Amino acid sequence: MYDRGLSEEQRMMRQSCRDFVDNVVLPFIKANWQREWSMVPEDRLPPVILLEADKLGLRTLGVPEEYGGTELDKATEVATFAIIAEEIARGDSGLADKLVQNWKVSVLLRQFAPRHLQEKWFKRLVDEPSLLLAHCLTEPRGASDRWLPYNVPEAAMQTKAIKTNGGWVVNGRKQFISNGYDAGLYVVYANTNPKVGMLQGTSSFLVPRDTKGFAIARCNETLGCRYMNNGEMVFEDMFVPDDHLLVENDALGSAGIYFRPGKIIQAAKNLGVGVRAFEATADYVQNYVQGGRILIKHQAVALRLADMATRIEAVRALLGRAAQAVDDKTPEAETLCNMAKLFASEEIMKVVQHAVELHGGNGIMLDFGIEKLLRDAVIFLHMDATVDISKMKIVKTMFPQTAGKYAGVE
Ligand SMILES: Cc1cc2nc3c(=O)[nH]c(=O)nc-3n(C[C@H](O)[C@H](O)[C@H](O)COP(=O)(O)OP(=O)(O)OC[C@H]3O[C@@H](n4cnc5c(N)ncnc54)[C@H](O)[C@@H]3O)c2cc1C
Repeated sequence: MYDRGLSEEQRMMRQSCRDFVDNVVLPFIKANWQREWSMVPEDRLPPVILLEADKLGLRTLGVPEEYGGTELDKATEVATFAIIAEEIARGDSGLADKLVQNWKVSVLLRQFAPRHLQEKWFKRLVDEPSLLLAHCLTEPRGASDRWLPYNVPEAAMQTKAIKTNGGWVVNGRKQFISNGYDAGLYVVYANTNPKVGMLQGTSSFLVPRDTKGFAIARCNETLGCRYMNNGEMVFEDMFVPDDHLLVENDALGSAGIYFRPGKIIQAAKNLGVGVRAFEATADYVQNYVQGGRILIKHQAVALRLADMATRIEAVRALLGRAAQAVDDKTPEAETLCNMAKLFASEEIMKVVQHAVELHGGNGIMLDFGIEKLLRDAVIFLHMDATVDISKMKIVKTMFPQTAGKYAGVE
């Protein structure tokens, strides 16, 4: 563990997260590997784990101190988010997903929610240890168009909000939403002007779970990150009052404040999965014997360990640089945060592949815990934009006039 360059706050947060993971999360995962496979979402992660995380302030990062949240030094907030996200995901990637959604949405609310709604929801967030937040962009017709975005009316959100007396009526459906199944408060994106491109015609709304017309359609059963309950929701003539409109028409452009830290946090969680794979594998190859020698004494095995370590350090280096750029709001922040997210997803897949292979048959056995890291890692190729869409975003920031220009209606 490198300490150099970390602030006192970052060092303290990292240590308390590491202790939490080593003393609470990893023992739970090891002793209860079957729980991940329960088809009753409420039975998977026991509330006590979230409670323990909450006691450390990990559920309310990003909430201003005046409301009782855990406010980090703003100058290095995103870098500190990354350090914490990595440590939690080293214990469990799904638990990290649950928590980081609260940080990311809190950053958005801090900026765009009216004062009286901040007072109401930040206070509730602090007071209710199980309250989770969700951010709803993706629809059954797809998410990639929104990430790029293809700024033409035919690619617009299919969830629509129509202005009415005192508010908006929302109809539509969102899918694949992190915390979607069990959140208490949602940020929902909807089309508010079908005649223009989505950058000019998408608005965001604050939607409490008990809003009339809001329903949870289902909890998605996922390959990995199974301790986060991913959900799908439906809005039928859902009335949202005027003061719950967060950003009118320019919601996607304004959401950079959420997306950029989001990419960094995503890469950091991914790194945490890789670090866990390395630690478990390093331990295994120094104890398990084949050919009369512990595995690491076989040269081909030792080389793979070097490969894993090198990839992890490369991800960490790019992540650190990108996090600093986002904290400093430099012009290259947009490119770098997408690069960090993309690079982590591909490199950590290779790290966990080594881990599974070096564990032999044990790497495949559910009760051994290594295959879980492979399942958790694969999610990162899709979540928060796919690999190809991330590449497209990077090249578009570098060559905005030419790269990936939409060819027009077919
Ligand atoms: C575990 C998990 C959690 C998630 N959490 C959230 C959340 O909290 N909130 C939220 O809003 N969304 C969430 N998502 C959705 C996620 O952002 C999308 O799944 C992702 O962006 C891909 O979109 P899609 O599934 O609609 O794929 P599609 O957009 O349908 O893409 C399908 C394939 O086509 C490719 N493709 C699409 N368009 C193009 C193009 N123009 N050029 C080249 N290739 C293209 C893609 O790369 C991909 O390979 C989550 C997803 C997962 C798996």
